[in-house]
Amino acid sequence: MPIKNRHDFGALVSEARIWLEQAELLGVRELPTLASPSVSEFERVVDSSADSGGRETLEMVREDLGDCQRCPLCDHRKKIVFGVGNPRARLVLVGEAPGRQEDLQGEPFVGEAGRLLDRILLSMGTCREDVYICNVQKCRPPGNRDPEPEEIAACEPFLQRQLAALKPDIILALGRFSAQTLLRNDTPISRLRGNWYSYQGLPLMPTYHPAYLLRNPAGKREVWEDVKQVMQRLRADE
Ligand code: SF4
Repeated sequence: MPIKNRHDFGALVSEARIWLEQAELLGVRELPTLASPSVSEFERVVDSSADSGGRETLEMVREDLGDCQRCPLCDHRKKIVFGVGNPRARLVLVGEAPGRQEDLQGEPFVGEAGRLLDRILLSMGTCREDVYICNVQKCRPPGNRDPEPEEIAACEPFLQRQLAALKPDIILALGRFSAQTLLRNDTPISRLRGNWYSYQGLPLMPTYHPAYLLRNPAGKREVWEDVKQVMQRLRADE
């Protein structure tokens, strides 16, 4: 924000104060050094007219998904929650499945857990509009139960196509279900988190789900350690 007068300066100070308070909520004791955008990142952002290089686009994946009836979860949903964010995002966050609010609004991570996720992103020096957020499962399972294997098998190809369209630098898997499903692994999330894996050839970092952090605030420190690794890798890949 260009500072033209005392009012602009005051607004900037207020923004910075909010940012620091959010970071403190997450147990942050040291702040990341936010690197200036590299030339490649600048080109990535400004070259919005570039085509997809022959790859399938997110719009094409969404169109093919249509009014999906490929698994029994279609009987209960209000809205398909496909995903939101920047189609050129370097970071993609993958959660489990829509909850009640997400099902009603058609957006992932709304409500209290969504607000906490926004604060985590803010602490990383980014925001919802700069990343892409989606779920393994696009429709809400009744009672928020875990999706069944056949429901996952029907829906995961669409996640894979989303990721192929996005080609992010890093996937952040949020929560046990997302991490275990993507990694075909039943290791507890407490042991998966903090380590790098690969999904479709893309680096994947598992961490705790924001809804878990609402119940277990002590886990915020571990999430901060995980997202610090993500930030370091993003900076190194610039
Ligand atoms: S969960 Fe996925 S596969 Fe099942 S109906 Fe919804 S969009 Fe289709």
